[in-house]
Amino acid sequence: FGFFKIMLLKIEKYPSKILLKPNQKVEVIDEKIKKLISDMEETMYAAEGRGLAAPQVGVNLQIIVVDSGDKLQAFVNPEIIKTSKKSEIMEEGCLSLPGIEVKVKRFWQIEVKTLNIEGKEIKFKTEGLLARIIQHEIDHLNGKLILDRANLFTRRKIIKKLTNKI
Ligand code: ZN
Repeated sequence: FGFFKIMLLKIEKYPSKILLKPNQKVEVIDEKIKKLISDMEETMYAAEGRGLAAPQVGVNLQIIVVDSGDKLQAFVNPEIIKTSKKSEIMEEGCLSLPGIEVKVKRFWQIEVKTLNIEGKEIKFKTEGLLARIIQHEIDHLNGKLILDRANLFTRRKIIKKLTNKI
């Protein structure tokens, strides 16, 4: 049983440029990647988030961790391969945009293709809250924030609010 030090990582906040950079696919899930994933999980819980993407902790790789309330999961190189016709609008927050809530339209159900933490390719369908969280985190992997999902009016209002705070 090795000594495994958990670290809380710094969360990148808007308007950090790191959030907008392209994110590379992970080639090999080695010890370094596994350590990053476990630090991301701790960081997500410490910040009371339901999801976290690697660029949010300053690492431009395609990794997300999610927990909609029933279990913690980590996905490497996740992709949405199918979406339902049905969608739903709900308010979302983001650890990179503290104090901001935006109504975001998301697909109700999605099918995801991803590597699990063992590096095995898996496919699964999910819906509701977990589907929403995964869509939000995959948006981060594409350099997209909830801000980009808001209408122009809301977006302007939020940017004004955020830049007044800085
Ligand atoms: Zn977010």
